Amino acid sequence: MREPPPLGDWPTEEFEANARAVVELVSEYFDGIRDRSVTTAIEPRALLDLLDGPLPEHGEPFDRIVADTRAKVLPHLTHWNHPRFHAYFSISASFAGILADMLVSAVDVNAMVWRSGPAASTLESVVMRWIAEMVGYDPAADGVLINGASLGTFYALCAARDAVPGVDVRRKGLTAPGTPVLRVYASDQAHSSVDKAAIALGVGLDNLVKVPSDEGYRMRADALEELVRSDVDAGLVPMAVVATVGTTSTGAADPLDDVARVCRRHGAWLHVDAAYGGFWNLVPEVRERAEDLRLADSVVVNPHKCMYTPLEVTCLYSSRRGALANSFRLVPEYLRTDAAEGALDYMDYTLQLGRSFRALKLWWVIRTFGRAGLTARLRESIRIAGALRAAVDAHPDFERVGDSAFPLVCVRLFPRELRAEMANASEERRREIRAELDELNARLLRRLNDEGDAFASHAVVREGYVLRISIGNIRTTEDDVMALWDSLRRIGEKVAAPIEAR
Ligand SMILES: *Cc1c(COP(=O)(O)O)cnc(C)c1O
Repeated sequence: MREPPPLGDWPTEEFEANARAVVELVSEYFDGIRDRSVTTAIEPRALLDLLDGPLPEHGEPFDRIVADTRAKVLPHLTHWNHPRFHAYFSISASFAGILADMLVSAVDVNAMVWRSGPAASTLESVVMRWIAEMVGYDPAADGVLINGASLGTFYALCAARDAVPGVDVRRKGLTAPGTPVLRVYASDQAHSSVDKAAIALGVGLDNLVKVPSDEGYRMRADALEELVRSDVDAGLVPMAVVATVGTTSTGAADPLDDVARVCRRHGAWLHVDAAYGGFWNLVPEVRERAEDLRLADSVVVNPHKCMYTPLEVTCLYSSRRGALANSFRLVPEYLRTDAAEGALDYMDYTLQLGRSFRALKLWWVIRTFGRAGLTARLRESIRIAGALRAAVDAHPDFERVGDSAFPLVCVRLFPRELRAEMANASEERRREIRAELDELNARLLRRLNDEGDAFASHAVVREGYVLRISIGNIRTTEDDVMALWDSLRRIGEKVAAPIEAR
């Protein structure tokens, strides 16, 4: 008769041997990453056939699980850590962050209250202060680590709602008699997470006012003032303005000085979505000309985007101390602990109770590189983006759209013949040319991504359909980006050629 397997987990010798196999897999992954296609061409049905199987009744040898992962899973990912991944936002996990994630899982601390993980909570307050200093926010602000900027904006707007004088949604709900209509303002370039927050908070999409942006895709503060004023005249209450530093389409930054002035005049909370833009403030040349985040009542920045830390880690800050806790603090008997002097219970700041020890990842990454090392790496991404911008500007068949301070480059193919024709064309012909350009650029992006050597995404802005090339991966070199530029020119010539020559 077969011996039943022993209970409990692997002995530590077995763990070590298996860990070595996984570390080898990780090294092999990074050593060979440039040989991988950034994306996979597999269809959903085929992938399900490849990965599906019956529920395993008995345990399997670990090396078989690793082998399957190597053969069937890794080839069919979109490789966000690939140095030629330029879609959405270029992110990257540094080795220090990867290893910290392993230790976070090993100790499996739940950092809900100070007592449930004292060093976890304490390190959280330490790294939050460091990061506030790095991005230029108030180091004494309330701050909490959360899983994503979208949730950060939701939490901040919840605090903003609960800070409106005379409104007590927390106790009475939104339907209490006399509750005014609350209005939120964001530019037409704001991230969709603002819309989602308006949905979930009971503000409603109709009360999220989209403020027009200027030719640089920045919120027009004069338009904001007018919109708020007419709402106030109509008896509506301006609850909050969401400004963006680093918009998703073109990396623009709203003018915080002017926007903050409107907020102060009308008593509206200013939330700044700096999920993408915040960390570039580490680079002194950017900081000098950057918007001042200290004007914000609350702000979100994303270390999982720009600070070489694996998903998911976002920092939410509010200089209105106590406002987040005012919305979210609720302590049932079973979570009551003796209040120790200086102890922070992070569950008080958001909806989340169980929370992983995210602070350790940041503590390892920041200490590994130091402020100087992080700054140097961010500056290199900005330098490479500058080289790409210069190359695009020098080419007669391409043009750039927007002008971000951050390494997000928007480009489109605009063949010189069409440009020349556009100059003197009738309004109707111009419309046709614009449609033709959109079609050309969509085809350019599709072909580029199908080839698999690089991966970019797109946006539709006033000019039309543009390719977004985000640069920020810790392993991306100028050669990687110039190889992408070569591909764009080569494919560009093909897609712009007469149909029979394509
Ligand atoms: C990335 C991004 C978000 C969404 O962040 P998540 O962490 O994915 O929720 C929101 N706003 C802006 C401006 C962003 O760049």
